[in-house]
Amino acid sequence: VFAHLVQAPEDPILGVTVAYNKDPSPIKLNLGVGAYRTEEGKPLVLNVVRKAEQQLINDRSRIKEYLPIVGLVEFNKLSAKLILGDDSPAIRENRVTTVECLSGTGSLRVGGEFLAKHYHQKTIYITQPTWGNHPKIFTLAGLTVKTYRYYDPSTRGLNFQGLLEDLGAAPPGSIVLLHACAHNPTGVDPTIQQWEQIRKLMRSKGLMPFFDSAYQGFASGSLDTDAKPIRMFVADGGECLVAQSYAKNMGLYGERVGALSIVCKSADVAGKVESQLKLVIRPMYSSPPIHGASIVAVILRDKNLFHEWTLELKAMADRIISMRKQLFEALRARGTPGDWTHIIKQIGMFTFTGLNPAQVSFMTKEYHIYMTSDGRISMAGLSSKTVPHLADAIHAVVTK
Ligand code: PMP
Repeated sequence: VFAHLVQAPEDPILGVTVAYNKDPSPIKLNLGVGAYRTEEGKPLVLNVVRKAEQQLINDRSRIKEYLPIVGLVEFNKLSAKLILGDDSPAIRENRVTTVECLSGTGSLRVGGEFLAKHYHQKTIYITQPTWGNHPKIFTLAGLTVKTYRYYDPSTRGLNFQGLLEDLGAAPPGSIVLLHACAHNPTGVDPTIQQWEQIRKLMRSKGLMPFFDSAYQGFASGSLDTDAKPIRMFVADGGECLVAQSYAKNMGLYGERVGALSIVCKSADVAGKVESQLKLVIRPMYSSPPIHGASIVAVILRDKNLFHEWTLELKAMADRIISMRKQLFEALRARGTPGDWTHIIKQIGMFTFTGLNPAQVSFMTKEYHIYMTSDGRISMAGLSSKTVPHLADAIHAVVTK
């Protein structure tokens, strides 16, 4: 009965790794997937995560019963504090409801379905370009997806005027997806002053902010700095949604641990929102997994482990920043034509190189370097040893 099916294409991002794995070349380099690698090119399990797991194993009172539909309650409380701040008035006033979800993706999907069911506007505006999964997640959640201008290829920076015009022209009440920090795929973030203008415009038009926070701590190295745009929106007393992921900042990728918070105007409304979120989650996957959220809770509740985490997080962020500098210098040393300052200006895990699909394909064929066809490279996949190889490839392709 399934014989009529056509072969579906690989996911454009995960497919890069599939192609990489098939390449027998010893010099191959995978800059496609957004996962942190050490200077030796190895995946990293944080020390604090190992310690937290050891604590969990030693605790014989732990059981494997189902979590409630909303997940691990302590994890939810700690996650809301981490993103909104210890002193958040919204938390103090019990106006925030937080549910544990399956990493960032699951949080976006649950939030999307909740909005499709209960919010009066069904259109969500996403940045042009954005993470490839965004349009699919929100379309399947039942929302209509439209884009707003964000990136200016000519400056390799923010098209702030275009952004303001497009959000200004959006129908009142529309939902707007905002990357909290380290925009994927461009690495281009608004300044704090620009965030303030975006906030004012959105609030004046009643646009609903939906923050995607997949890189808290990864952009600047500081958890508080990277959460600032979200806290500015929460501080004005208005509503917003926040999807959090612990994939990158705690290296918990495959544990699939994240949270959706909805900031409401009163405790009464937050309670009703939570009751409706449960009706979205129960038929979708019943309740979330226990292990990843338990690891996060152990780390967030313990002052020493928390501090240790911030140091390990900062070390990851610093290594990425150092890769930016090294790649920029390597291109300069080769006299590669073009302005490459965006490599050091862009923020977070990715650099949007400006290389086109034909150039990417040349680099894959001739240099065994793998990346998405839009020219996005994961800086976390680079090391001091591989920077020269990448710089040679970029130099070759732009002087070809
Ligand atoms: N949003 C953005 C912008 C991302 O880059 C990612 C990860 N690539 C996610 C959300 C979700 O990731 P996860 O589901 O692994 O937490």
